[in-house]
Amino acid sequence: MEFKVRSYRFNPEVDTQAYYKEYAIQDFPGMTVLNALMKIKYELDGTLSFRRSCRSAICGSCAMKINGITKLACKTQVKPEIMKFGIVNVEPLANMPVVRDLIVDQEGFFDTIKAIKPYLLTEGENEELSGFKTLKEGEKIKQPVYSREQFKNLTGNNDTPNCILCECCYSECNGVSGNKKYLGPAALAKLYRYSEDPRDNDRDVSRLLNGSKPDGMWDCVHCQACEEFCPKGISPVKAIVRLHEKTIKNSITSTPGAKHVVSIAQSIKKTGKLDEAKVALGTAGIAGVIRDLPVVISAALKGKMPPLKLEPIKNMDDVKLAYKELGLEEK
Ligand code: SF4
Repeated sequence: MEFKVRSYRFNPEVDTQAYYKEYAIQDFPGMTVLNALMKIKYELDGTLSFRRSCRSAICGSCAMKINGITKLACKTQVKPEIMKFGIVNVEPLANMPVVRDLIVDQEGFFDTIKAIKPYLLTEGENEELSGFKTLKEGEKIKQPVYSREQFKNLTGNNDTPNCILCECCYSECNGVSGNKKYLGPAALAKLYRYSEDPRDNDRDVSRLLNGSKPDGMWDCVHCQACEEFCPKGISPVKAIVRLHEKTIKNSITSTPGAKHVVSIAQSIKKTGKLDEAKVALGTAGIAGVIRDLPVVISAALKGKMPPLKLEPIKNMDDVKLAYKELGLEEK
């Protein structure tokens, strides 16, 4: 069967703007999008540029947008794409500048990984490590099984390897779309992984403080796109939620994001309702509310004023019971 591949093309050395070019090629049983791109490159147009390496969904190099959805080209069969869309449309990943054709500049993404210090920090005393003091030089310190269990399915599990740094989640992340400085899902999932490793001496405070900085964990918008588009079955958003919980449990609550969550919980605990006025005050403080007054006034003039006093709902006993069951009645 002959089918068409329509590729995004842009060479900054000669093109003033991007364009699309179509190629007609013959398929073969089991042909992947990466097979099709390699056929184009070797037989039709050697100038088409894209990244690839392992061809086995292990290296993550060939991530790109295929018919509008971020996927690995080596893991995506041509036939279902043709049956659904009638064409294979390929474009570079989003949220990163294009270097050429389907190749993006990965520096910003890898800066986010570097920012969370993706290695064990073992300076100082550590009970977990003291048992290993007799190890010979070069011997590995194994991670305890119980700690591994805490983040399986969130950064990879026994059936699927760990994060391959393919950037699919980063490309689809709505938080990154709105703020290019946001750490993003892959980096925050890694931060959670190290925050749960008992061999790491910075796991409880320093790492959580690092992740709580502006553009960090509290900028997640919980859209869950990272989980939906990860080709390795990882759920960065669940790791981020665990980071939030752990941060609040460790009383790191001075950031606007943490204050927002604590204010919402307190509002529901007192009234069973979301008291937007109090939540705004609890999150931003009086100075923040004064700063945002023009927005508040503009919303009020359009009839969007939250009630200034909320009466508790009738079945507050159920709410209290829920807080008790969750072990939150003292907070
Ligand atoms: Fe890719 Fe998944 Fe890792 Fe994100 S979390 S970089 S989508 S493997």
